[in-house]
Amino acid sequence: MTKSTPLSPLLFALLLAPAAFGQKSWFDPALLRQPEVKKAMDSVDERAAPIVDEWIRLVEIPAPSGKEQARAKYIRAEMEKLGLSDIKTDDIFNVSGVRKGTGGGPGIVFAAHTDTVFPEGTPIKVKREGDVISAPGVGDDTSNLMATLEMFRALNRGGVKTKGDVIFLASVQEEVGLLGAKYWLEKSGYKPDLFVAVDLSSTQVWYGALRISQFQFYYTSPGAHTMESRGAPSPAKAVAKAIDALYDIPLPKLVEGLDSFKLPVINVGMIGGGTVVNAIPREAWLTVDLRSTDSTTQDQLETAVMKAVRGAAEKEGVGFRAETKIAYDYSKARSAAERLNHPLVQTALGTTNYFRKAGTPEIKPADVGSTDANIAVSMGIPAVAVGAVMERMPHRLEENADAGSIVPGIKSLIALAVAASTH
Ligand SMILES: [Zn+2]
Repeated sequence: MTKSTPLSPLLFALLLAPAAFGQKSWFDPALLRQPEVKKAMDSVDERAAPIVDEWIRLVEIPAPSGKEQARAKYIRAEMEKLGLSDIKTDDIFNVSGVRKGTGGGPGIVFAAHTDTVFPEGTPIKVKREGDVISAPGVGDDTSNLMATLEMFRALNRGGVKTKGDVIFLASVQEEVGLLGAKYWLEKSGYKPDLFVAVDLSSTQVWYGALRISQFQFYYTSPGAHTMESRGAPSPAKAVAKAIDALYDIPLPKLVEGLDSFKLPVINVGMIGGGTVVNAIPREAWLTVDLRSTDSTTQDQLETAVMKAVRGAAEKEGVGFRAETKIAYDYSKARSAAERLNHPLVQTALGTTNYFRKAGTPEIKPADVGSTDANIAVSMGIPAVAVGAVMERMPHRLEENADAGSIVPGIKSLIALAVAASTH
C-alpha cells in the first residue's frame, strides 16, 4: 500500500473492530468533573478519618459465616438512614436495599459480604500502627463492606442521579461457598443486569468464575469391637487410603497470574468418624474441595477424585456413599473472551487503574473467581470482582490493610457505579 492509497473498507472495518466487539469502557474521566460526582468524591476526602474509625468498629463486630446477624443489623440500619428503597433482610440475613435510578439504565448490584472465615471467639480487636491496621477480617471483606456503604452515602451527599438502580447487597456465607449471594440471586426476585462483587484487594480485577466442587465421602461397615478388628475391613483405613490416593492425583501445571493462589487444587479439609476408641467405626468420612479455573480441567479432576475415593472403598471392602455439597452449573456462563470484553469489566479496569496508587503497577484482569461474582457468572449475568483497599494476608490471623487506601478505593467504586449505571 502506498501513502496515497485510501484505507480499504476491510482495513477500516478492522480498525473499528475493538469497539464492535464491545471492548469499550463506560468510564470517561470527564465524568469526575460533573458537579454532583465531584461533590460526592470531595465528601469522601472530608470524611477520611471517620470512615477508618467506622471500618474498625465494623471489624470488631464478630461475624463468622452463618452468624452475621449483628453486622447485618448494623448495615440495615445504615441503609435505612440512607433512605434506600425496598430494604430487605432475608431468611439467612442477606440485607439488600435499592438506590433508585431515574430510569432507562441497567440495574447494578454492589455486593460485599458480611461474614468472615474466623470462628467465634477469635480475637478481632484492631491494632493500628501508622497507616497499617491489622485484625482478622480487616480486609476480607470488612474493608469492602465499609467502602460500599460509604459509596452509597457519597452518592447521596453529592446528589448524584443514576439512570439505573444501584443495589447494595450485604451478603452472608460467602466464605462457605458463596451461599448468600446464590440464595439472594435465586430468591430475592431481583434480576440485576450487572453484578459487582466488592471482595478483592484494590490491586485486583477478576472477571472469571472459579469452578468449585465440594464433596463429602462416607465409608461404612457393620463395626466390630477392637478385639475382633484384626484384619477386618475398616472405614477408618478406607479414609486413609482415599486421602493417599487423592494426593497422588497428578495436577496440571499452575495457572499463572493469581498472586498467591495455586490452582487447580484438590484439598481434603475435614475428616471424621467413629464414636468410641475401642471399635471399628461404623462410619468414617472425609471432605474434598476441588477448584480449577476451567470446566475441562474441573471435569477431569472430578472423575479422578471419584475413581480415587471409590477405589479406596473397593480395596478396603467397605460401604461407600458420596454427597455433593457444592457444584455450580456453569452452562449459562459466557465465554472467557466475552466476559473479559464486556464493558463492565473494561469499566472496572478503567476506574481501578485511574484511582490506583501512584507508582504501583498497572492492574491487569484475571480470569478467576471465588467471590459472589461467581454465582452471577454461572447465571450468565455480566459480572466483575473489584476491591477498595490495599489488603494483605486474607484468611490469616495476621491480616492487615492500609487505612489510607480506602479513600481512593471508595472513589473508584463511585466512578464504577455511576459509569456503569448511566452509560
Ligand atoms: Zn471475601
